[in-house]
Formats: sequence, C-alpha cells, structure tokens
Amino acid sequence: VLFFLLILICAAACKSQPKDESEESEFVESLLKEMTLEEKVGQLNQFTSRWEMTGPTPDSENAQRLSELLKSGMVGSMLNVVGAEATRNAQKIVVENSRLGIPLIFGYDVIHGQKTIFPIPLAEAASWDPELARLSASIAAKEAAANGLHWTFAPMVDVGRDARWGRVMEGAGEDSYLGAKFAEARVKGFQGDSLNSVLTVAACAKHFAAYAFSESGRDYNAVDIGGESLHNVVLPPFKAAVDAGVATFMNSFNTIDGLPSTANPYLQRELLKGKWGFDGFVVSDWNSVGEMIAHGAAANLKECAEKAITAGCDMDMEGYAYVDYLTELVNNGEVDVKLINDAVLRILRVKYRLGLFEDPYKYCSEEREKNNIYTKEHLEASRRIARESIVLLKNEKKLLPISNKVKSIAVIGPLADDKDTPLGNWRARAENNSAVSLLEGIKKAVAGDVEVNYTKGCDLAIGGRKFSTYLKVNENDRSGFSEAVRFAAQSDVVVMAIGEDAFMSGEGRSVTDLKLKGLQQELFDQVYKVNKNIIIVLMNGRPLVMPEMVEKAPAMIEAWHLGSQAGNAIADILFGKYNPSGKLPISFPRNVGQVPIYYNHKNTGRPLAKYPEDNLWSNYMDSPNSPQFPFGYGLSFTSFEYADLMMDSREIAQDGKLKVKVVVTNTGAVKGKEVVQLYIRDEVATYARPVKELKGFQKIELEPGESKVVEFELTKKELGYFFPDGTYVVEPGNFKVFVGGNSVDVLEGDFSIV
Ligand code: BGC
Repeated sequence: VLFFLLILICAAACKSQPKDESEESEFVESLLKEMTLEEKVGQLNQFTSRWEMTGPTPDSENAQRLSELLKSGMVGSMLNVVGAEATRNAQKIVVENSRLGIPLIFGYDVIHGQKTIFPIPLAEAASWDPELARLSASIAAKEAAANGLHWTFAPMVDVGRDARWGRVMEGAGEDSYLGAKFAEARVKGFQGDSLNSVLTVAACAKHFAAYAFSESGRDYNAVDIGGESLHNVVLPPFKAAVDAGVATFMNSFNTIDGLPSTANPYLQRELLKGKWGFDGFVVSDWNSVGEMIAHGAAANLKECAEKAITAGCDMDMEGYAYVDYLTELVNNGEVDVKLINDAVLRILRVKYRLGLFEDPYKYCSEEREKNNIYTKEHLEASRRIARESIVLLKNEKKLLPISNKVKSIAVIGPLADDKDTPLGNWRARAENNSAVSLLEGIKKAVAGDVEVNYTKGCDLAIGGRKFSTYLKVNENDRSGFSEAVRFAAQSDVVVMAIGEDAFMSGEGRSVTDLKLKGLQQELFDQVYKVNKNIIIVLMNGRPLVMPEMVEKAPAMIEAWHLGSQAGNAIADILFGKYNPSGKLPISFPRNVGQVPIYYNHKNTGRPLAKYPEDNLWSNYMDSPNSPQFPFGYGLSFTSFEYADLMMDSREIAQDGKLKVKVVVTNTGAVKGKEVVQLYIRDEVATYARPVKELKGFQKIELEPGESKVVEFELTKKELGYFFPDGTYVVEPGNFKVFVGGNSVDVLEGDFSIV
C-alpha cells in the first residue's frame, strides 16, 4: 500500500510539475524526503551500457548486476545507451520497477557532432568565430536529443599547450581567453535557451581541472601546476562555462600536486560550488574515483568513495565505489548524510530541468530520430563551418587558389581519398567512411574540366582502425611511390593530403615525436623531385612538425579533421570559392623539444628586446625559440593592412575603461575575412605577467579596398589577473596594447592604470 501511495504522490507531483525556481526546489526537496538512504545513493551512480558490449541478452556478470541495480533504483544515469528505442527500454526498467521511478539521465560523448560530424573542436576554434561553435553544438544537441540522449560530455574546455597530448584535438587550443569564448558558445549551443526541450541536451564542462597539463604530455599523467597558472590559464574557460549556465561538470583523471582532482575539495566544493555558485552536479571521469587507488591516494574503493564524495564529486561514473560503499559509510558515521543529500539534490535538479519528471520518455521519439538527424541543412552547416576552420599556412607562387589554366591535377597521399579520417576521433554516431573525401570534393569541384590523377602513394595506418585500438604505422611499403611520381610528373599541380589518421590523436594518443608518421615525408621528397608545384593539405588533430615541407612546398593548408563535409570544404578553398580566414588557435613548434610552446609565455630575465635571439643564453643552441607558425597566424587570398592604432585615453583608473581602435584595410584584390586580434601586456606586476595576452578579437569581412574601424573595449575584466590564491587584482602601472592579424605582427601602443 505504501508503495502505491508513493507512486501516486510522485505521479501527482510529476504532473503538476511547476516551472519556476522555488517550485523546482520544493519539488526536488520533497522528493528527497521520500527517499531512503539506499535510493539516495542510487542516484549517484552512472553505469555504461552493457547491451552494446554483450548483445541483446545481457549475459555477463556485470550486465546481470546492472539489470538488478536498475530495477532497484540504484542507478541515476547511464552512458552509451543511444537511440530512441534503447533509451526507452532502459528508462522503462527503472520507471516501472524501482520504488520511486526516478528517471535515468542518459549521457554520451557528443563532442563534435552526433551523426552529422563537424570539425574537431580544435579546428573549429581556428574559425575564431564562437557563433559557429554555438551553431554546431546546437545541431549536435538536436541530433543527440533525437537519439534519446539528455546529456553530452562536452565541451572539453582544457587549455592545451602540449601537442604531444593527443587530446588537444578536443579543446579550443592554447589560450584561455579564446577558450573561454568557445566554452561559453558551446555550452549555449548544446543547452539552447532551456534544458526543458527535446531539441537540446545538458552540457558538461570537462575535465576539472588541469588535465591538459599532464607531465610530458602523457595522458592521465600527474600535473604539477602552481596557483598562478591554475587560476589565470586553466580555470577561466571553466568559469565561462558556469557563467553560461552549464548544467554539469566532469572532474579529471589527473592528480594536481599529488591530489587527485576527484578528491580535490578546493576545486569542487570551495571554488566551483562555493565561490562560483554552480548549482548543477559534478560527474567523475570514467572510474576516476576508483583510479585513486592506482594513484596511491586511497587504499581501497571504500576510501575512494569517502574521499570523492567529501570533496564534492556527486556522481561516480562506472566506478562501483559509491554503489558499493556509500550507504555503509553513512551508516558508520564516516560520511555525513548532508553530503549525500546535496549531491542527490543537484542531480535531481538537472533531471527536473530536463523535464524528465514530466515525462521520462519525452526524448524518445522514432519520428524525431528519423527527421532530425543528418539532414541537408545540418550537412550544409557542417560544410560552412569546415570552410571557416581551414587555415592557409603558406601560399607562394600564387599556387592557390588553383587557376583555371591548370589542366591536370595529381591528387596524392594516404589521406587523399580517405572517407573516414576527416570524421576525426570522438565521432559519436557517425557512420564509418561517411565523410566526403578530398578526392571526391576535388572531382566534384572541377566537374570533368580538369584531369584528376589520383593515387595514394603509400598507406599511413595499417590494420584495424577503431577508437579502441592503436594504429600500426606503415614504415616499409613503398610500392605505391612510383605511380605517385609518375602522376606528379605528368600533372600541372600536385595536391598532397597527409597528416594523421583519425585515431592518431585523441584520448590515450600521446606521442613523443610530432613529425609526420610513416613514409609521408619520403613520399613528399620523391614527388617534389619531379613536380615542385605542390599544395600540401594537412589533416591532423594536433600541431605537427614538418620543417622540410614548410621550406619546400609552395602552398600549405591546415585542414585538420573537418567532419562530414571535409572534401567539399577543402575544395571550396582550393578553387577559390571561399577565401580562407582561419587562424591557428595553437602554436606549431619547429621541433618537439620546444614543447610546451605557447605565445603567452612569461619572459626570462633575458628578453628578446635586449639581446639578439642567438645570444640570449636562454635560447636553444640548435633551434630558434620562436615557433614554426605562431598562435593567431593564418593567411588569406587577399592582404590586410593595419594602421592608426588609437586609444581614447593614455591613463585610466583601476576600474576604468579604455577604448582601442584600429583601421584595417583590405589591400588585395578579393573579398576576405580577417580576425583582428588585440593583446595586452601588463609590464610590471606583483606576479610577472605573460609577454602578451589575448584580450579581444573580432572577425570582420572587407571588400577589396575597403577599410573598417575596429573598436575594442578593455575593462577591469580584461586588465586584471589572479594571484596564486585566486584573488583577482587590477594593478596600477604601465601596459602595452598590441593589435594585429596574428600574435607576432602587431601595432603597438602604451597606456597606464593609475
Ligand atoms: C574520458 C571522458 C569521457 C568519458 C566517457 C573518459 O575516458 O576522459 O572525456 O567523457 O571517458 O566516455
């Protein structure tokens, strides 16, 4: 009787589910009161689908256990259950069998698209257009929601300065200002105006925190980072995600100064939930709770559970620590039930906001699944965003755009007709081999008017190609070289597609060498001997090192892993249908020994301004200090001139505002877009500031000959910085301001804060 009564109470509450905030808290708090300790603990667990792994009849021990846990209400969320039918079936088990029927929330890694795939996040950041990231995230959300999903584990907002780390592909690059703008846009794109919509999903800012600073670029490695860098470099994009209303956070695998992030009370409780006022929940990374044992920071799973919940990790992803030990820990008085209550309320709140108490099946719709996914409009958006993400690195001899005098093109390289690599790593529900290859894009663009001679030249990866497998690189098979050389010799121009296979970057894909893998360099050398008109098309998930190519190839474009429409987007650039406008969101080193290399470093006591670069004593003996291509760099088919840097004042108060203006002119012959970048330097501060810091950017479009006045405003928000303890200060003194089309070639001005 009690059971039915509760169901009735819950059902009644569900039906009359109110919309405003006080009613939300009334609802979740009264539900909490109905819950037993076990049921509360149940909400804090997330498990992966076992159906996918074991087939339709769950037969493994884990699958059996999972099924029992679901029925008894001991699961709050699942990941990797995808599809209207699959999510409905799993939801049914919980809703129809557990005492309170609290709906599950379904999470999935929707990183750069669900089935329509967009450029990898690093590439998209090269557009320097956060609105595009917002658009792609909103489409990804629409498709994911049509697959029954409520929640994506994105955006990854880790600032990445180390290209050895494979996950730089998943973030917005090396800068925290640009990173914050993309974090905000992506959160808003995924979540839309309201979580309570079947067209949006809850977002998750990850990985909290400093995961990208893993020592020597090796994934999951320890992090030693001081408070100054933590607050000024790592945290701003996370704060931006909170300000944008992000529903959830994910903590990170790494330790910071020996303390696992999962067990870090400062980050999760004091800062995130305290100072920043975040009222959503924190999910662990995959078994990051259990991994504390291997870190040497907990003796057993029970201790893991105690440390993680105490530090503010609300949900245990696939760790089996909370489900097995939290009840006991509370009953023994080792964990205060208040901590459990707080975590449960946070999770219930997000479920409430998603509208799951109104209708736990509202996201499950075969009709939307059929109509909202992989549509023509979505593919068009993917092509447009891909185009804007391409960076023109080099263009000598006016090789690009390819002139209509060119009558034959040799298309060469292991990635030239690869329909899978452009989908990149973390491609969610994309069909394998569903991208438009470069060869397909070129053939379509020339429509038979130009002879296209394709040959691969060599393979890059051999053997299987899957998220879960490492790739073997082809080091020996040169049998395709001779045909490549022959085709190159008989063609006007060579387009050569090289770089990284989709699964050479991403999670667990760290490298010690950033050079082109396998035989690609050799293939280039052979081809170059017979035809010097080579356009290199790079497809990669991280900065690569290729000094010989940069020196020899007259033209190079950075085409990353661009998604479903990659080949069409690249062809749009090659044949001048679109003028490239991307700028690098991450520095490209000359060699791996320079890593980590980033534009906003601090000075040594031997600044370049005082010493020549070859006699700094802080230079390398075997390499310049500067990168191959700096942050913010990218060319266009036209040229831009910067002039008349003006400020409305030379002195401002600590809480004052400064207007900075510059005139930008298109001095070339075609229309083009330019990313106007503003940097500052605080010349003397209590804690030394970087030599340059991005504090504003605008993407403008100019007709040939046209000029525009571009205006920026600097306020307290841009002019201050964090002390290592997290206190924000604006210190008086002299500042420099720099404006230009990249982080190196800039106009310069001075002002001071008094
Ligand atoms: C990754 C996360 C991801 C999670 C779930 C982990 O290995 O670090 O970024 O969201 O798996 O798939």
